[in-house]
Amino acid sequence: MIREFFLGFIKLHILYHASKGRICGVEIKEELRRHGYDISPGTLYPTLHALEAGGYLRSEEAVEKGRMRKYYTITPKGERMLAEAREKIRELVEEVLE
Ligand SMILES: [Zn+2]
Repeated sequence: MIREFFLGFIKLHILYHASKGRICGVEIKEELRRHGYDISPGTLYPTLHALEAGGYLRSEEAVEKGRMRKYYTITPKGERMLAEAREKIRELVEEVLE
């Protein structure tokens, strides 16, 4: 239930960071941890996959420090979703935090 509540926040977080530059799963996991979300790979990877399947993210493989990693970047559809979400976040913050 808790996971269900925060999954939307997590998805927006991922979209936001993917809009700033390419990011891999490990980096996303670290970033989310910094924000207090301890997300398991069993939640993170299906979430990334769903965002990609939905057309919000695209991925490319690249070798970084001798390791093959999958990097994610936002798509135009993802940008539109993020812009729309920003408005909703603003509204929610204004109401909930007054
Ligand atoms: Zn962040």
